[in-house]
Amino acid sequence: MDSDALVNSLSQKLEAHSISELQTVPELTTTTTTPSHRVHEGYGFRPPSGVSTPLTGHAPVDTLVPDVNGLGWPAKSTYSRLTATAEEKKEREQKIAAAVRTILDCIGEDPDREGLLRTPDRYAQAVMWMTRGYEERLAGTTSLVSFLQQSPSVTLDVINDAVFAEDHDEMVIVRDIDISSLCEHHLVPFTGKVAIAYIPNKLVLGLSKLARIAETFSRRLQVQERLTKQIAIAIQEAIKPRGVAVVMEATHLCMTMRGVQKPGAITVTSCMLGCFRTHQKIREEFLSLIKR
Ligand SMILES: [Zn+2]
Repeated sequence: MDSDALVNSLSQKLEAHSISELQTVPELTTTTTTPSHRVHEGYGFRPPSGVSTPLTGHAPVDTLVPDVNGLGWPAKSTYSRLTATAEEKKEREQKIAAAVRTILDCIGEDPDREGLLRTPDRYAQAVMWMTRGYEERLAGTTSLVSFLQQSPSVTLDVINDAVFAEDHDEMVIVRDIDISSLCEHHLVPFTGKVAIAYIPNKLVLGLSKLARIAETFSRRLQVQERLTKQIAIAIQEAIKPRGVAVVMEATHLCMTMRGVQKPGAITVTSCMLGCFRTHQKIREEFLSLIKR
């Protein structure tokens, strides 16, 4: 999409929000806990039951329920996958491979011909890799940490100890972060770029962690709208900045390769929290800084 058109459409979209909706944005809060204490508390959160993606406009971020295991937006089986033993992992892969064999059979192929013989196993490993975001936590509780230290294959906390006290109050932006994810409606990839910005409030996050947070959530089954919000809310939760902005542009294979078959169609989603939502000037500065 043309950058000016993007700026205009986002500005219009945000201005269309009613005043009452804007008032639900939580007030800026000054945290009194020390950074080191905060990290070990875990940044896990989950929406109230039954809601898969909270609408940041309608349901304020602070209605999120803390997740006891420090998991960011856990799905039904996130915990059991995260804590699976080597045997259990093997068992999962075997089940997936058996299902892939069935697919090969059903589409009219011969699962026993040479080229396809190892495909079920390869696919099982690939799909576990492509969804490895279920095995990553934002920051964990101590009980889970000790458990996971015995399981070296598990990546420990994404945010880890990368929260620093810093008196910086200007906008921090990381843009052009490449994203690959799987659309949860068709299990086919969507790929694109994400730009993340925040304005600190006493705490900053290690720069690479912005990309790591995006990576963790993108390696789960997703819809682009939710992925955008999860990144924004994770940063909001971790360092309580004055505001967070996330804009994502992606191409969905389910749109370009099947169905309507519109190659080149780009889906743009955004999530603005705090001052990026309430202050048009800040939002415009951000949108002009991410122009290419
Ligand atoms: Zn799809």
